[in-house]
Amino acid sequence: RTITEEKLMVAVRVRPLRVDEGPRIIHVISDKMLVLEDEADNRRDILRHRRINDKHYVYDRVFGEDSTQEEVYDTVCGPLVTDTLKGFAGAVFAYGATGAGKTHTMTGLMTRALNHLFTSINESGHPTTYEVKMSYIEIYNENIRDLLNPSAGPLELRDEGGTGAPVVAGLSEVRANSAGHVAELLARGDRARTAEPTHANQHSSRGHALLSVSVSKQVEAGVQRGRLFLIDLAGSERAGLRARRLEGAHINRSLLALGNCIMALSGGARYVNYRDSKLTRLLREVLGGRCRTAMVAHVSAGGNHRDTTRSTLHYAQRASSI
Ligand code: ADP
Ligand code: MG
Repeated sequence: RTITEEKLMVAVRVRPLRVDEGPRIIHVISDKMLVLEDEADNRRDILRHRRINDKHYVYDRVFGEDSTQEEVYDTVCGPLVTDTLKGFAGAVFAYGATGAGKTHTMTGLMTRALNHLFTSINESGHPTTYEVKMSYIEIYNENIRDLLNPSAGPLELRDEGGTGAPVVAGLSEVRANSAGHVAELLARGDRARTAEPTHANQHSSRGHALLSVSVSKQVEAGVQRGRLFLIDLAGSERAGLRARRLEGAHINRSLLALGNCIMALSGGARYVNYRDSKLTRLLREVLGGRCRTAMVAHVSAGGNHRDTTRSTLHYAQRASSI
């Protein structure tokens, strides 16, 4: 199975174990399979007992603790950038609990995607026929913030009628001319993302960051447009597949809605409700299958994170059946 044959490619990346995280409970068996030692922390459990409770999970791809940024890029994102240059849309999501490695992965993908993009354009022989524009937003508490113009107030999401994608009114779309330029813009955006010092951690883990890169190319028949979304989702610890509805205000509405869409899509539902959150409204086109999408679910290898790890693996498994 490759990205080009699948609507949604699901990968899992295991973050290297740190000393304070308990015993290793994730074992990568192959580049498609991992095992979760899913039993109570009883070191004296007999082997047989352990075996019964170990769970095998299979995904399109599993990246172990020693996986490199390059490897993840080449497998998950590179083909989508090639598509974007040809006028298609694509998206990569990073899913997982806070601290599981989402931003680490996405930072690596963003840098490489932009280098790849500008290198290809420059080597195409007619670079001036291309135009690259980017926008970078954060959805935090269902408010859309422009990370490239952080002093602006919350932006409105408007449906322009018809079947077109909704539009973020007043969003800055910056014309980019080199990977270095984009890196500068991203760094500025990332600083805006954590601008509230006292809530820095909470803020960055509860907000979704969406980078959109659009590539227009002048062709004989007019203009060909491709688009790539790179999405660093909010921490999933409060909104697994079976989100605790009673948590009320603490539930991340966009993440919950995304889970519901994935449930509906994976169950083959005829009606999928995208309207419940800003994130799903914005990504309707992406989720609905008119573009190629990859999800990288992130887990820590240590036993201290067993519950969030189990819920992430489950979520990713559900997503695999789309
Ligand atoms: P998240 O965005 O999911 O909250 P981060 O990407 O911030 O998590 O990762 C948490 C910490 O672990 C960071 O210090 C990050 O540098 C480190 N980290 C994450 N993934 C890896 C990895 N694959 N290899 C090495 N360090 C990693
Ligand atoms: Mg992060």
